[in-house]
Amino acid sequence: MTYRIREIATRIVDLPIRREHRIGVSTMRRQSSVIVQVFTEDGPTGLGEGVVPGGGPAWGGESVDSIKVTIDRHLAPALIGVPLTGANEAAALMRRVSTGNHFAKAAVEMALWDIAGKAAGLPVHELLGGRRRESVDVLWSVGANVEDPAGELAEFAGAGHRSVKFMMGGRSPRADVERVRTALHELPTGLTVVVDASGRWDEPAARRLLPVLAEAGVDIAEQLVPAWNLDAMARLTGLTRVWTMADEAVRSASDALRVALAHSADIIALKVPKLGGIAAARDVAAVTRAAGLRCYAGGTMETSIGTSAAVQLFSTLPELAGCDLIGPLMLADDVVTRPLEVRDGALTVPQGAGLGVELDEDKIRDYVRE
Ligand code: MN
Repeated sequence: MTYRIREIATRIVDLPIRREHRIGVSTMRRQSSVIVQVFTEDGPTGLGEGVVPGGGPAWGGESVDSIKVTIDRHLAPALIGVPLTGANEAAALMRRVSTGNHFAKAAVEMALWDIAGKAAGLPVHELLGGRRRESVDVLWSVGANVEDPAGELAEFAGAGHRSVKFMMGGRSPRADVERVRTALHELPTGLTVVVDASGRWDEPAARRLLPVLAEAGVDIAEQLVPAWNLDAMARLTGLTRVWTMADEAVRSASDALRVALAHSADIIALKVPKLGGIAAARDVAAVTRAAGLRCYAGGTMETSIGTSAAVQLFSTLPELAGCDLIGPLMLADDVVTRPLEVRDGALTVPQGAGLGVELDEDKIRDYVRE
């Protein structure tokens, strides 16, 4: 199939969230994302989402504002009117006009997978070779700001979640660890426990406190030290029974290879937006698995559009160390007619053609940024 893109429309929406969510030093009070529609000349319209935690540049350097400008001024002109065979060719054209900008590229790329799936009448996971599971277990994420973490966690464990994640930051590493320890005392056992310092600790703090986290029952420690410090990450890996996870340190397949060669992590967090699209994330999963490391299904608090794009891919991977596609749990509203649901702690993989979601224009009107 060859098709031409007629127009790429981008709109920023600001969505309410169920409670404030602190990640590292920044507090999310709402979630913003760029809703992308890719209109073809006579084929289907594709949906995509440009999304970063909180909508600002604190996590990854891109923001909803920069994503919109990058798509409108650079990516769209490179794609409109060009005969395209699909997402691979479009990704190559986008790379020609833009270095980096993974979050913006992912927003457009997922829409092209949506187009391909709708044209074929198949869900994206079937285009990727087929799903290996009907749903993916999703953890509950406790923001660093939550006053009563044990209370909140008990509620979510009761709702069927089998894993939990503590965001750390905004206080000293020692205080963060005390908070996790206290909460874990009161929790039901058997949960998989993840902590995420978003690269905010230094190596001396991490070397001292990782054994304390291990003793408290933590299973996975995500990006304790800064992304650049692969040597420190290597010294922390295997130090205790806690598996280490690279998040900010892996933004490409080459990064994943470097982490693997340096033994800097046990697990690599895949995220469709930070890696630049579904195909790029699939490549990173291949490198991760070839190195004997585990894949983790990461999220960026996406609406149902980005959540579907991610879970279409993640459902095809053989095994996952965990999943934090918490958008459907954390967002108080959505932009599609039938939002994705988490039931009994698991996110069901959509079965409709393409990404399997339809835009709700009333919701867009409610939340669009003027
Ligand atoms: Mn993280």
